[in-house]
Amino acid sequence: MDRALCIHGHFYQPPREDPWLGLILPEGSAAPSRHWNERICRESYAPMARARRLDGSGRIVELLNCYEWMSFNAGPTLLAWMARSAPDTYARLLEADRESVKRLGHGNALAQIYHHVIMPLASDLDKELEVAWAVDDFRARFGRDPEGMWLSETAVDTPTLEALAAAGIRFTILAPSQATAVSDDGENWQGVDAGSLDIRRPYKVLLPSGRPMAVFFYHGPLSQAVAFERLLADGEQFFRRLSGAAGEGLLSLATDGETYGHHFTFGEMALAYVLDQARSGRDGLTLTNYATFLETDPPKRFVRIREASAWSCAHGVERWRSDCGCTNGGHPGYNQKWRAPLREALDRLKSRLDAHFFAAGNPLFSDPRRALAAYGKVMAASMAPAAFEAAHFAPKLPEAARGTAWKLLSMQAWGLASFASCAWFFDEISRLEPVNGLTFALRAAELARATGMADPEPEVTDILAKARSNDPEMGSGRDIWENMVRPRRETPKTLVTQALLTLGLEERLPTGDGSAEARWPGVAVTVRLDDPEGGARPGTASLRYHLETATEDFAISFRQAATADPFDGCVTMVAAGGGAEEGVCFRDVGLPVNKRQALADAFARHAEDAFFAAMLAQAATARKLVTELQEAQNTLNLAPLWLHLWPGLLWHEVFALPLPAKREALLRLFLIEAGRNSPVKAALEARLAAETARRAAEPDPDCRNLARLVARTADLDLHPDWWAAQNALWERRPFAGSTAILAGALGFAV
Ligand SMILES: [Zn+2]
Repeated sequence: MDRALCIHGHFYQPPREDPWLGLILPEGSAAPSRHWNERICRESYAPMARARRLDGSGRIVELLNCYEWMSFNAGPTLLAWMARSAPDTYARLLEADRESVKRLGHGNALAQIYHHVIMPLASDLDKELEVAWAVDDFRARFGRDPEGMWLSETAVDTPTLEALAAAGIRFTILAPSQATAVSDDGENWQGVDAGSLDIRRPYKVLLPSGRPMAVFFYHGPLSQAVAFERLLADGEQFFRRLSGAAGEGLLSLATDGETYGHHFTFGEMALAYVLDQARSGRDGLTLTNYATFLETDPPKRFVRIREASAWSCAHGVERWRSDCGCTNGGHPGYNQKWRAPLREALDRLKSRLDAHFFAAGNPLFSDPRRALAAYGKVMAASMAPAAFEAAHFAPKLPEAARGTAWKLLSMQAWGLASFASCAWFFDEISRLEPVNGLTFALRAAELARATGMADPEPEVTDILAKARSNDPEMGSGRDIWENMVRPRRETPKTLVTQALLTLGLEERLPTGDGSAEARWPGVAVTVRLDDPEGGARPGTASLRYHLETATEDFAISFRQAATADPFDGCVTMVAAGGGAEEGVCFRDVGLPVNKRQALADAFARHAEDAFFAAMLAQAATARKLVTELQEAQNTLNLAPLWLHLWPGLLWHEVFALPLPAKREALLRLFLIEAGRNSPVKAALEARLAAETARRAAEPDPDCRNLARLVARTADLDLHPDWWAAQNALWERRPFAGSTAILAGALGFAV
């Protein structure tokens, strides 16, 4: 194979889930998106799945799935969120891998270290788990075995490569600076550096185990240029740079996936241009992926890797444990001395969790280590909990012991999540990422206590006390733990409170003798309520955490808010097994700001839907009363009063049958004038776009009518983003007859 090209994208977001709710809570800095996953998905991951290729007049000729023509890895924690919250983009990733297998015989997708931990800093157990869980996650999603695995920050050492090889992984990708010497025969070595290393072929690494492992090295300067030199500003320029650098063998680039579209607006379009040029064979280039190249051009030479090195630290892997000087975050004066105690505290906690897991797990599992390694199958939902119990639990365990066993597994998963590399990456310990890491540690510590371990928090916070924030007001790591981490802890009291608040705000509280469920990805609360007795409603609440079998049950008495303030409600709870009665008024629970924001967001959606539906009904009546345009009339009588009906009037004007022409003329005049300065214009445009996309995705859409609707919207001076409708229509290729009419209306070249 000559002049082969492979562009690799690393797609990753730090784990952001609240470890109790399993939900990403609102992040203010991502507003108006709810959080960063949502925002980056909208700016980058989704556009890359349907990148617009345009003709000379700006009309769309193709929606290109970039993932189908590039190599990529996406972390399990990001994919789990995407599967739930961006299913269309997720489906395109899976489809891209399937299509590349069909075309090349090997898929574009690579696995990724499960929690994006820095592998050279992880224990042997943690290395094994991060790889095993990643493999199981990959198999469950992509339906095949992974051949390559992306190492977090390309952080590598020999034991890490051994862990990959032991799991059947055949190759990984490293930076050219991570090679120290090469050899033709494995005996005579020649020193190399990033400049002298021949990156056009993969190399074999000689592992002590004798297992095979190949390493690809990406093109450093070009990969850097994509990120920092505006290469994505011009697709043609980008292609010429690539073509100029390509030669006999493989040219590969490794880039952060977020570069395309998030860091660089419309970067996905430049990428799509390059991929299209390359797939058409311009300049003799061939698009390939690593596994395909490995098969046609297996490594003949050997390489020695730089032990404990990474692509984003010039000092080995110090960035994730010391004040090495590598940092970003925008505060040049800050120091990162806090990194060492943060690492020490979490290492100490994890080694205690490990000891506890094996001691407490010994009577519960047939083989605790095997059970823990296989837990990834349950997290990936490729193995049912009952099957896992049959395979790995000791026989005839009583229910309470089974509950403990599941908690121990969950404890280990949260302990590992606390090592996600982002906690150390930036410049300050009170940032979101370290606080998230510590919150996962808090959850792990709580599960440890619940399964009989002595409280690890005092020891952890003693170590954290040595970490100093750069912000004097934040104090030490211990202060951050007490002021920012511990307040996030959920208890049955806070969960039942949030369940009752959620059900009340969404008008789903059970009536009569019914029950209702407030469900988050991580926990579900089922509430049953009877008729009121003396102002309060007696009932029960039952909590169940995801991947746990046991429930926590309570008898409750709920006193609903007597005012419009939902926090005016109170509940008393008694655990089903007995115990003290706990009473709490919602306003005293002290939910942290992002949990209150989550309630506010859910209410805003619910209230806006309810408001829109009511207004739509009023507008339907109002529209029938619109009279004829009269001489010299330039707006509706009492126009200011009609303004609040504007969105509904416009909606009907688009979707309902037209009025008689003279009456229509008056309404149109008003709609255009009122829309000019309407503060709800963007929200209405979003609704119109979503409804059009929904209709276009129906099994047998009325495309002629939809085309009329699109034209009508423009006539009323509204310009929705037809992105989702275009995507839905693209699935109906080839365009002919009515689909061609709609395609033309939506901006396709037809
Ligand atoms: Zn460094």
